[in-house]
Amino acid sequence: MNEFQLIARFFDWPACNADLGVGDDAALMTLGAGMQLAVSADMLVEGRHFFAGADAFSLGRKALAVNLSDMAAMGAIPRWFTLSLALPEVNTGWLDPFSQGLRSMADEYGVTLVGGDTTCGSLTLAIQIMGEVEQNNALLRSGGLPGHDLWVSGHLGAAAATVMHRMGRISLHEDTLSLCQPCLDSPVPRVALGRCLHGVASAVLDISDGLLGDVRHICERSGCGAEIELLRVPYPPELNQLPEALLHEAILAGGDDYELCFSAPSTQRAAIEAISLELRLHLSRIGSLVARPGVRVMSPEGTPIQLVRAGFDHFS
Ligand code: ADP
Ligand code: MG
Repeated sequence: MNEFQLIARFFDWPACNADLGVGDDAALMTLGAGMQLAVSADMLVEGRHFFAGADAFSLGRKALAVNLSDMAAMGAIPRWFTLSLALPEVNTGWLDPFSQGLRSMADEYGVTLVGGDTTCGSLTLAIQIMGEVEQNNALLRSGGLPGHDLWVSGHLGAAAATVMHRMGRISLHEDTLSLCQPCLDSPVPRVALGRCLHGVASAVLDISDGLLGDVRHICERSGCGAEIELLRVPYPPELNQLPEALLHEAILAGGDDYELCFSAPSTQRAAIEAISLELRLHLSRIGSLVARPGVRVMSPEGTPIQLVRAGFDHFS
């Protein structure tokens, strides 16, 4: 099978919300009136972002999910994406489930594959996603102010605990693993939450590299600091079986959560509770933004706690 047959067989889907999709030199799309284009890219490299031999269907879903999560964090409506693929070989036994997984995620969120590039090389999946957001209304990292509450969606740490287990650093009970593993393999992008945060949140991002490191991004962009109350950080109770230092590492510095973290004035607390009920999604108030720079984790007594590791950086 040559490159063009491969594209035709696996990636030439009907482009329902694009003017022109796969097959020409470029795709064509029209933005809604009053809408701005939101663009983001995320690359997954075998051995770096996923284990060699990872299930191809899940990988297809996850490659798109992590990109949808960026649209969620902007409060954007995801619409289109491109897929750039490096493949070591043409393996239909891999391409079939991969493209099916990708398509199932795309269909769930109403996004269309409009193009890409295909080449030979170490397995690498690069997706660029495009969405629409009301002009000048995107949810940025930069709007936080001292005194605003800091919130997080869902639970943290399950994906990181699964990675620790797979790397042999810990041994999770079988039922805990079956609870945590889906959080790593099939994160749920919080697109609906992002849409609800317009007019509510002052700064938003998605947590991909660990809570502390990502909160630092909000702080740097917003020109403030943050205090996080350790006991308020939500995690699955099953993770209490971890040694304390590893539990803290998983929930504070572990990556791959893809939950949203956001700040909001305290006057929005009732609105946020209402969003939580409507979406049936836990939203936890974990601390606040403060004037003093830096991110500190606080004990119940209100004193800072020293931690070993503070967020994931691909070059450290
Ligand atoms: P070009 O020569 O202009 O780079 P290609 O021959 O690489 O174009 O691609 C032909 C068409 O197939 C283009 O419309 C491109 O967007 C699309 N395409 C290539 N690879 C993929 C892919 N992995 N997924 C979806 N569309 C793809
Ligand atoms: Mg090309």
